[in-house]
Amino acid sequence: MRNFNNFNNFNNFNIMTTTQQIALLKDKHFAAWVTTRQQVFNELSDKQGMFCMCGKLATGMHEQNCSRFNKQVDKTTLSRLKHLI
Ligand SMILES: [Zn+2]
Repeated sequence: MRNFNNFNNFNNFNIMTTTQQIALLKDKHFAAWVTTRQQVFNELSDKQGMFCMCGKLATGMHEQNCSRFNKQVDKTTLSRLKHLI
């Protein structure tokens, strides 16, 4: 029975969605989340050149508000901080 419970916990961890993992990181490691996300934002922004991944002109203002760009920033930040979860 104990092994069965352990297996269940392991499984729950694996089925956490990206959104849940991000929420957990923000909750438990807010400073690390904010710092790393800012770094990732700048790195991805530098990589983009003139156009955003959504096809529009990649002004700083646009990137702040672009849902596609920000989703990518969130995902990359999550992959860098996964060891904290
Ligand atoms: Zn965009």
